[in-house]
Amino acid sequence: MSIIRFNAIKETLKRGPLKVNQQEKRSTLFGKNVFNKYAMQQYLTRAAYESVMNAIDHGTKIDRKIADQVAVSMKDWAISKGATHYTHWFQPLTGATAEKHDAFFESINGSLAMEKFDGEQLVQQEPDASSFPNGGIRNTFEARGYTAWDPTSPAFVYETTLCIPTIFVAYTGEALDNKTPLLRALQAIDTHATAVCKYFDKNANKVSATLGWEQEFFLIDDALANSRPDLQLTGRTLLGHSPAKGQQLDDHYFGIIPARAMAFMQDLEEECMVLGIPVKTRHNEVAPNQFEIAPIFEEANLAVDHNSLLMDVMHKVSKRHQFKVLFHEKPFFGINGSGKHNNWSLSLDNKTNLLSPGKTPMKNLQFLTFFINTIKAVYEHEELLRSSVASAGNECRLGSNEAPLPILSVFIGSQLSAVLDELENVTKGKLSPQEKTDLKLNIIGKIPEILLDNTDRNRTSPFAFTGNKFEFRAVGAQENCASPMTVLNTIVAKQLKDFKVEVDTLIEIKRLKKDEAVFNVLREYIKASKNIRFEGDGYSKTWEKEAKKRGLSNNKTTPAALKIKIDKKVIALYKEMDVMSPVEVEARYEIKLQEYSKKLQIESRVLGDIARNHVVPTAIIYQNTLLENTKNLKEIFGADFKNIAKEQIELIMVISRHITEINALTIKMIEERKNADNFSGLKLAEHYCYKLKPFFEQIRFHCDQLETMVDDNLWPITKYRELLFTK
Ligand code: ADP
Ligand code: MG
Repeated sequence: MSIIRFNAIKETLKRGPLKVNQQEKRSTLFGKNVFNKYAMQQYLTRAAYESVMNAIDHGTKIDRKIADQVAVSMKDWAISKGATHYTHWFQPLTGATAEKHDAFFESINGSLAMEKFDGEQLVQQEPDASSFPNGGIRNTFEARGYTAWDPTSPAFVYETTLCIPTIFVAYTGEALDNKTPLLRALQAIDTHATAVCKYFDKNANKVSATLGWEQEFFLIDDALANSRPDLQLTGRTLLGHSPAKGQQLDDHYFGIIPARAMAFMQDLEEECMVLGIPVKTRHNEVAPNQFEIAPIFEEANLAVDHNSLLMDVMHKVSKRHQFKVLFHEKPFFGINGSGKHNNWSLSLDNKTNLLSPGKTPMKNLQFLTFFINTIKAVYEHEELLRSSVASAGNECRLGSNEAPLPILSVFIGSQLSAVLDELENVTKGKLSPQEKTDLKLNIIGKIPEILLDNTDRNRTSPFAFTGNKFEFRAVGAQENCASPMTVLNTIVAKQLKDFKVEVDTLIEIKRLKKDEAVFNVLREYIKASKNIRFEGDGYSKTWEKEAKKRGLSNNKTTPAALKIKIDKKVIALYKEMDVMSPVEVEARYEIKLQEYSKKLQIESRVLGDIARNHVVPTAIIYQNTLLENTKNLKEIFGADFKNIAKEQIELIMVISRHITEINALTIKMIEERKNADNFSGLKLAEHYCYKLKPFFEQIRFHCDQLETMVDDNLWPITKYRELLFTK
């Protein structure tokens, strides 16, 4: 056994759960380090407090004097929590978070020192950020970008730093981050959803999107994980034979959380509580050493920030517990991958869930309006929604049996399907009083009862209605939720905008009553969007065929899925909804392609290295042992040796064949990597996807075969069994 593997296993065997301090009551910890409403009330003047609240609720500007006041109070509060530094905390297009710490410190005349932080530093900063991906937006000679305070996501103290959530934009005004387009999409959904709500409630004021994510991940002992170059450098295993026992017994799912993992979770949850991340649920997932953590849902911008923060905190806490957290969508071949379900809904004035039926027929009509418009939006933009979760990692997961296919479809359950079928037959134009009563009593009046005992669940659907929200399940575990949330909110906003125009036209021109007009438009939407609705097994081959007939997209690879991002219609959509300019759209497309190509390039290099420098030399050593053994047998048994050493001779030959294949395939793969120099952009991504990636599986096959033959004592790479079943 290689010294690295041996030491890693030895190290691991010594470990037990880390002792976690006596847990404090969660409710007393919650939001302790967040500059939330409660802290603001204590630290801000009334005028400053109201100004910040107005900025949060109505997007009004905070003037400089007030910003100064807020900054001073925020600093005092942060220092009381032990902070010495502050940072603008933002989410560049790497998908991760970024921060640059500055001390609350200024010297006076070079000798005296004082704690300083004013409005200028709170509101705007200019990080030297020329190395962040920008997709060509910034030329290096004008490489300046700046970060600007986002008051809708509260500042927080993490360790000894005050973190101020900000947007990140170029000096020329283009967004260089994930948050800015998300905030614009949330503005769009507010505008158009509120306008539609006014049909049902004149006092409707503000609609917010809500998001509750469910984060899946693997916890692997860090000594074991770090002993493998692939896990260390790519976050996933590029080879490894399946263990004798995998997940076939389903004995991990919802089982007792192992002690070491439990200690990690408790520690993590405490940190989350202090930071105001309302985590609530934790459980074992399907695969061995796979888990899930989920919070109570929140306003979407905050929920997105909290998910990014959670991932950072998980990395930090896991170090203390000597674990490595894997967020990769498919870290282990043949074993379930990790996703991040995005539960999404719309909330009116922080009171009414618009995707939950109400007590009156009018409220139910409101529910149906948002329900049907969402289905229609997904139908119209299924390919764009699919592209929002396209990445190198998710490509390994989507369509591999435990994850949804890369075909978007909507599941709503049999009862709601029946309601939509009935609504499809509503008379065109004006309705008789009898028809109206019928509709109200027999169709929409029954929805609440229907949903009460609606236990319909379809785990194979990528976009499922689950009683009072839609659950988008194709999102990858590493993904920043801002990307799918921007798309979903933009397409629904656009749909609602069109809906309002159509309803208003029927009211004004055809002189229909409001509810008649609403019914008429909804009926047409139900008919038009039928092809996106699917209630059957979303993993089946027959659905793939059926979806093709229905004209739904089925983009299996990332380069194919990304193309739609710069489609003329998509560029026009983002422009119309004020979410992104054409330059911003194109920049993101470029960055996604680059990211994909770079990841595959790294994987290809790592695989080549492991195959040739770790696997092949080990196989040769073992082969030599076999050769030595056969030679000795010949010496002793003479001519008889052929019978006696039959197995050994066979094995020597098989090993030779695998070694030859690995060498030949690796050389070809390197050749293709060199050829990649001739391409860029989409062509480069396609080259990596179609010319390089196929070698991964072939090389892996031969390596995994050798793993089953070579003496376990010699094998240099930590095995699946060790990675997945060490608790
Ligand atoms: P599962 O999908 O594991 O069965 P649930 O269906 O109970 O779990 O969904 C739980 C998730 O849905 C939680 O993260 C929760 O916060 C979220 N959720 C519940 N209601 C809403 C809502 N109105 N808007 C957004 N997310 C919601
Ligand atoms: Mg779920």
